[in-house]
Amino acid sequence: YQVMCCTGTGCSSGGSEPVIAALREQIDRQGLQEKVRVFKTGCFGFCKMGPILVVHPGQIFYCLVQAGDAAELVEQHFKQGRLVERLLYREPGRSKRYLRLPDIPFFQAQRRIALRNCGLINPEDIEEYIANDGYFALYDVLHHKTPEQVIEIISRSGLRGRGGGGFPTGKKWQFTVQAAGTPKYVVCNADEGDPGAFMDRSILEGDPHSVLEAMAIAGYSIGANQGIIYVRAEYPIAIKRLELAIAQARQAGLLGHHILGSDFAFDIELRLGAGAFVCGEETALLKSAMGRRGEPRPRPPFPAVCGFRDKPTLLNNVETYANVPVILRQGWQWYAGLGTENSKGTKVFSIAGKINNTGLIEVPMGTTLRTVIYDIGGGIPGGRQFKAVQTGGPSGGVIPASLLDTPIDYESLSRVGSMMGSGGLIVMDETDCMVDIAKFYLEFSQDESCGKCTPCRVGTRRMLEIMERITQGKGEPADLDELAELAHDIKDASLCGLGQTAPNPVLSTLRFFREEYIAHVRDKT
Ligand code: SF4
Repeated sequence: YQVMCCTGTGCSSGGSEPVIAALREQIDRQGLQEKVRVFKTGCFGFCKMGPILVVHPGQIFYCLVQAGDAAELVEQHFKQGRLVERLLYREPGRSKRYLRLPDIPFFQAQRRIALRNCGLINPEDIEEYIANDGYFALYDVLHHKTPEQVIEIISRSGLRGRGGGGFPTGKKWQFTVQAAGTPKYVVCNADEGDPGAFMDRSILEGDPHSVLEAMAIAGYSIGANQGIIYVRAEYPIAIKRLELAIAQARQAGLLGHHILGSDFAFDIELRLGAGAFVCGEETALLKSAMGRRGEPRPRPPFPAVCGFRDKPTLLNNVETYANVPVILRQGWQWYAGLGTENSKGTKVFSIAGKINNTGLIEVPMGTTLRTVIYDIGGGIPGGRQFKAVQTGGPSGGVIPASLLDTPIDYESLSRVGSMMGSGGLIVMDETDCMVDIAKFYLEFSQDESCGKCTPCRVGTRRMLEIMERITQGKGEPADLDELAELAHDIKDASLCGLGQTAPNPVLSTLRFFREEYIAHVRDKT
């Protein structure tokens, strides 16, 4: 037997390390070392049910496992060959137990490409990554493709930036190639800061080599020999695994000089971010990575022309990079065949809030919000009514129940006043006050404003004061118009994406839940 135990942040915080220790102890005690091996792996995504173990053969899915279950698991499953029924997954309110991971509804509408190795391999073992097609794309690129051919493949695949903007990835690579100046740099944005978002963290924790491989491919394509991963210091497991992966890749000749026998040299360094949300903005990130204050600057020039150390810099986020090796292995036609006309491939989302199945999912672009919330997310707990979902974190907006059939793609989400963002989905039910929700997000953005420009620094503070008045029952009807007017001014006049999008949660709740604002104002004491 092979026992795959999730050691991502979710399962680790639920106690997966003690489970692994207890399992190994029981296996030793029963003398089953030859028969059963326990492996650490990345996130399966079904975080609500952690700690999770998947047993091969059979992909038997055990959930909510605690160290105290180890003796029974070893005796019953591995010695007697009988399932431990009580640890099998059961949907809330139903008696049916699911045996195998692929049969569980949470996994059925998913398509895991960026997350392909999470839950499948041990992220701390480079050999497992290599055994699952890892570094073959890099080998193929270095020996059989020109940089132009690689960029052509990425362009034709239709891959767009998964960090929020949705800019065509191939075009960004092309711009960096065309920019004058050397050396050039490849940077990975791993500064995921949206409340409730943990897509990039899970990829780094579960499959760090996929990002290293993609960055080396990007380096070859744009003519860069140095990569930098800017990762938030609050991600200790991701950092530890990245450090290990970089050391292993160097030792295996996959980073450094003459990679895989070629003339190409590439290495990667880590830079730790200190938790400022604004450092997810590319110009602020680059400044912070250079050891300066993480403040945005006007664009142009864009980082492709003037980035790290004022040199041409390619900057993509973790999820974007994680797609690159598999596109090169499977072909651009395969990737372009997934998703919608303008949004190709899949997207990873973290789903949280008032939903039964909190966790991490990956679905083809074009999947509807209804499928995500009901089929994958298992609906709303306690039989309550779905009210709205916030997409795009503090930069996005709410989508109400009447728009649940909206397909998830860049254009459709922006048409309904929200945005893809990096992929956080927070679900609200009938008991949530939408004015409070909007105030929460505005408070977050206000707190994280770097203060460099007045519309954002002062404007969001004025908006927040109005929101506080309204939620304290001291608002006036005229406040609603003033809120909307301020919101538009801030969007138009702010320097960077943080300020330009900070009013979105207020604007979208005003649009879809205006009656709640009116009720607050009317019912004031
Ligand atoms: Fe700073 Fe806000 Fe201006 Fe961006 S918009 S530069 S976060 S003050």
